[in-house]
Amino acid sequence: MKREAVVGIDVGGTRTKASLVTVEGQVLTETVTPTPPRLGERDGERLGDLAAHVVAELVQTLEEPAVLLAVGVVVPGLVDEASGIGVWSANLGWRDLDLRSAVAARVDVPVAVGHDVRAGLLAEHRLGAARAASNVLFVPLGTGLASALLTGGELVTGAPWAGEIGHVVVVPDGPPCGCGRRGCLEAVASAGAIGRRWSEATGLTGDAEEVARRAAAGEPEARRVWTEAIDALASVLAPVVAAAGTELVLVGGGLVHAGDALLVPLRAALDARVGHLGDVAVEAAALGDRAGSLGAASLALGLVGR
Ligand SMILES: [Zn+2]
Repeated sequence: MKREAVVGIDVGGTRTKASLVTVEGQVLTETVTPTPPRLGERDGERLGDLAAHVVAELVQTLEEPAVLLAVGVVVPGLVDEASGIGVWSANLGWRDLDLRSAVAARVDVPVAVGHDVRAGLLAEHRLGAARAASNVLFVPLGTGLASALLTGGELVTGAPWAGEIGHVVVVPDGPPCGCGRRGCLEAVASAGAIGRRWSEATGLTGDAEEVARRAAAGEPEARRVWTEAIDALASVLAPVVAAAGTELVLVGGGLVHAGDALLVPLRAALDARVGHLGDVAVEAAALGDRAGSLGAASLALGLVGR
């Protein structure tokens, strides 16, 4: 009997990651491919082509053929999961695009559409660092900055802007943000912003990990940029933690490679704000950049009742 499987696809601003997973949850093969530019143009035709290409590539690498039951696609930005509509993505260039139809027209199986960060939290909850927790705030810190919330073991979907904490203003008239406004959390505390702000202040080039190293070594400009980022992040996370009864703040994305240089001061900054309310743990996510595609596969499995 042929094995039954699903494919989870995580469409990022620059890279698209995909996983082929059996209905028993075994990851058989994975792939990473560049995300084509202007993906949102031509009514989602390019997105459909990308999904079909990725699925074909994964299926080809299998030693034994499998029956494809469903596909899950997760994207950044504002997503209406119920209707499968990509409401808005600045990076991928769409507004009100019917993602589900665009992909389903090419892959010929049922398609689930989700938000990349919520799907990542789903994967961390089922397979990763949030397995033992039911009240979790997941914050991947990378080029951008968004969040996802699990309360009572259930993902909070809310309105399409759920999780978009990166565009909460933390410094009025602060640094410009990709969304067109100024002083958003993403423009102060994302990995991209940390490297950029330090480079602007010093004339040197370096990424956020470099800033973390220099901050730990006591360099004043690096310390200033790093501390401002952590304080801004804690100031936005703390009210969410208090409102939602969060027990675990799970930090993911590229910046988590900074390790204790990030986790220790973030723990302290959150503790200073909400520590008297209860025990809030701050930990590193476990699945790295596979969380999105594994979460997308979970959505696909859910679609076929697995
Ligand atoms: Zn913004």
